[in-house]
Amino acid sequence: MKLKDRFRRWSLSPTARISMGLVSLLVGLLMVLDLVLKLLPDQRTMTQTVREQVAVHLALQVKRMLREPQLLPMIQPMFTDLVEHSPDVQTVAIRREDGTLVVASPQHEQHWQAPSMGLSTITSVVVPLNTNAGRWGQLEVGFDSPWPKTVVGWLMQPTVQLVAILSTVSFIAFYLYLRRVLQHLDPSKAIPERVRVAFDTLTEGLLVLDLDGQILLANSAFRSFHPQASAVLLGRSIDQMEWLIQGLRDESDIPPWKRVLHMTEPILGVHVDLRDTGSEPRRALLNCAAIRDATGNARGCLVTLDDITELDRANAKLRAALGELETSRDQIQKQNEELQMLANCDPMTGCFNRRAFFARAEGLMAHAQDTGEPLTCFMTDIDKFKNFNDTYGHAVGDLVIQQVSRLLKRAMRTQDVLCRFGGEEFCVLLPGLTLDQAADVAESIRYAIETEAGPSVDAVPNLRITSSFGVSQLGLGEAKNLLQLIERADQGLYAAKEAGRNQVQSMDWKALHEVH
Ligand code: GH3
Ligand code: MG
Ligand code: MG
Repeated sequence: MKLKDRFRRWSLSPTARISMGLVSLLVGLLMVLDLVLKLLPDQRTMTQTVREQVAVHLALQVKRMLREPQLLPMIQPMFTDLVEHSPDVQTVAIRREDGTLVVASPQHEQHWQAPSMGLSTITSVVVPLNTNAGRWGQLEVGFDSPWPKTVVGWLMQPTVQLVAILSTVSFIAFYLYLRRVLQHLDPSKAIPERVRVAFDTLTEGLLVLDLDGQILLANSAFRSFHPQASAVLLGRSIDQMEWLIQGLRDESDIPPWKRVLHMTEPILGVHVDLRDTGSEPRRALLNCAAIRDATGNARGCLVTLDDITELDRANAKLRAALGELETSRDQIQKQNEELQMLANCDPMTGCFNRRAFFARAEGLMAHAQDTGEPLTCFMTDIDKFKNFNDTYGHAVGDLVIQQVSRLLKRAMRTQDVLCRFGGEEFCVLLPGLTLDQAADVAESIRYAIETEAGPSVDAVPNLRITSSFGVSQLGLGEAKNLLQLIERADQGLYAAKEAGRNQVQSMDWKALHEVH
């Protein structure tokens, strides 16, 4: 905590401070009056006078005794008695004019402090002893210092006690009086009662401040905002409300209610975190606007606090629910895609299965028939595939199928449809290509398989893989519908196998004739 804040926390209330000021004034005034008018008795002068009188009386007695020779021996015991029984008297002696001691109490020379110029002081009193012939000698009486030697002794001094009692009593009196008077000078009286009652009906906390930040009004909603807000004293500065200042989530050093005085627009939506509220932390929105007079000069500031804890909590819940919804939506979408993939694709090669193939083929057929654009098809089958299974096992057979399908996929355009038709048999639809163009595509794939498929199966060195192809075009011969188109391609494939495998057979007019 900053030193300033600590000081503020421990500082006295304004009423107490004013009371202390008045007490100081009163005591100061009394002291000045005493200096000028000597109101209080001067203790020092009084004591010295009394001591001198005591010494004079003693001197008179001593003089009488000096005249009676039979009384002379009694002077010494009298002095010793006096010193022993009078707490103030330290030493007594009779000294001749030439300086010799005639009679003295014990250890007079040690105790006696001769006053300068022979004038009595408060501790050393000198009384001359005269005869008819003139000055004969003097009586010396040494007194203890009248000033207290301890703090308690000083406190017991009547003057100190007088000042202490006067200060305490007057402080209590001033304090009680001012408290009563200040209640009547309540700054809230600057705002009419009916306006205050109206403000109390608001659910928003509301403060009206003057230009110095003094609170002129705090409505009941504001007082219930925080345990410390209930003790808001009207006329106090808003700067003393640490719970509010510490809760401000505002970057600026100057609080909004001071900044707004220099702005034409109000400051809205400043977040305030209210801690130490007894329960959970709460959150509020603070708005402030300057109050201006007819000439546009700022005369004060209106501060409102709106509790948004519940709203915030509901928002957080909503955000969490939305997040969960988004996550589950993503999961569902992913699962749907996976399902779609499982439903449409062959898991080993990733090519369409027959169902998905026919679904897409319908669309391509309809488009070709509507537009008259060519639609071609080729079937391909891996040559002597059974041998791979028989020689190297099914796992290698699977790898061979995967490598061939990879090369087929690589050659596909986006509009082409590739399907794993059977075990090691694939069917492809190529929209927009003529029979010759499709045969060229098939030939390039055939070449790729012959040169690349075998070497890419790492498990078996020097593997040779080839495929045979049969190509057909919609509308050529009896290829009037999809099934017939595929059947024609299959006939081409059969012809390719027959002709020695690893080749492409197009079902053109010539081939059709040969078949028939
Ligand atoms: P060709 O086509 O050149 O006339 O000879 P082929 O040996 O390839 O002939 P065929 O079509 O009779 O052989 C296909 C074999 O492929 C039969 C079957 O055991 C095997 N096969 C089918 N599906 C799979 C598969 O998914 N994995 C493996 N490893 N073998 C399969
Ligand atoms: Mg085969
Ligand atoms: Mg086959």
